[in-house]
Amino acid sequence: MSTFPHDQFADALAANDEYIKSFKYSDLTGTAQKGLAIVTCMDSRINPLSVIGMRSGDAKILRNAGARVTDDVLRTLVLATYLLGVKRILIMPHTNCRMAQVDEAEIHREIDTKYGIDTSELEFKTVANQQAALIEDVQMVRNYRLLNTGVFVGGAIYDVATGKITPVDC
Ligand SMILES: [Zn+2]
Repeated sequence: MSTFPHDQFADALAANDEYIKSFKYSDLTGTAQKGLAIVTCMDSRINPLSVIGMRSGDAKILRNAGARVTDDVLRTLVLATYLLGVKRILIMPHTNCRMAQVDEAEIHREIDTKYGIDTSELEFKTVANQQAALIEDVQMVRNYRLLNTGVFVGGAIYDVATGKITPVDC
């Protein structure tokens, strides 16, 4: 065990001291008030709640590299749809995503070349065709036998240059 690295988090801790002064979400519960879950990429250009005009308490946010549907995403969505009020799921990858620009082997090679670490035991789930991968992921969630019934699942691509989301038929 080591002490918390205060210096490295000083800006975040100072900002939090300010944040709590006007904190107004004390009454919220863990239920998604707007009944929505968003699966999106970890990309730092995306502010999922702002994109769709929501705020704290409204939606569940699941993020990973490339907005891919993984076992852990399915596990979380099962809990969200039975226990946390989620009735609609939006899977939202984005334009200019690194995961859609290179293939699996290239990423492993780049890390190995730069850092000398072999990451080949991991599957990064890069996509060759973003739209096709989105359709596949939406259908995987929609058809998942353990998901609650009556849940709507949609796919849309977020444009990091304009902020616009474009729905995709899946
Ligand atoms: Zn991305």
